[in-house]
Amino acid sequence: MVRSAAHRRELLKEVYEQARRCTACPLHATRTTVVFGSGNADAELMFVGEAPGANEDRMGLPFVGQAGKLLDRLLGEIGMRRGDVFIANVLKCRPPDNRDPQPREIEACRGYLDRQVELIEPVMICTLGNFSTKLLRADGTGISRLHGREEVRLIGSRAVRLYPLYHPAAALYTPSMLETLRADFQRIPQLLAQGAPEQPEPLEELPELDELPELDEPLEGERAEELDAPEGEPVALPSGGRPADQLGLF
Ligand code: URA
Repeated sequence: MVRSAAHRRELLKEVYEQARRCTACPLHATRTTVVFGSGNADAELMFVGEAPGANEDRMGLPFVGQAGKLLDRLLGEIGMRRGDVFIANVLKCRPPDNRDPQPREIEACRGYLDRQVELIEPVMICTLGNFSTKLLRADGTGISRLHGREEVRLIGSRAVRLYPLYHPAAALYTPSMLETLRADFQRIPQLLAQGAPEQPEPLEELPELDELPELDEPLEGERAEELDAPEGEPVALPSGGRPADQLGLF
């Protein structure tokens, strides 16, 4: 389906509004914010990490800690910036104490990721680490066997070039892994240049948004001013997350 960037952005914001009110798994009770994802709604390249950590939970944005800084550096080395890509996670809410995502949580959150892929229509998805790689390949093969090996996969109704990479957080502390991640990253431009793989017959319509998890009543009284804290200060966000216009959707 051909959509303008503005239309994609508006549809994505609607999905975000659902996600920020989501109570489909127990993580809604412990999160500070929903970390929906950020970046270019019209991106050809998406990254999918694991789950928000403490910094992301506080800021409402993905990959804002040390792993995010490394991701930014690796993007810069291939001539790209965050504004060129869309970054999301398997889970939109932080697991307490950064424990691993649980199957029930992954299942509850899956619809949001599928919807993001359907709306953004990327050419290529780089999975970062084991959780996103196993989820999007629907297979238990680990990242150490798969990193740097591109393949065409159907994600929802979209055929994409899936390109598993080591998670930047793992590469932070293991120099050999960082070199491998860097070398794998260097191949991204040439893979992107191949363009989108052949697509399956298009669906007539995008499935209705109400196929996403059931929601409670809409949140009320969320105040954008709460986000105006000085840089470096803890930011008090409404429990759902950032207002959509501060989500970093370009
Ligand atoms: N690690 C992830 O997988 N995602 C984030 O957003 C931050 C760290």
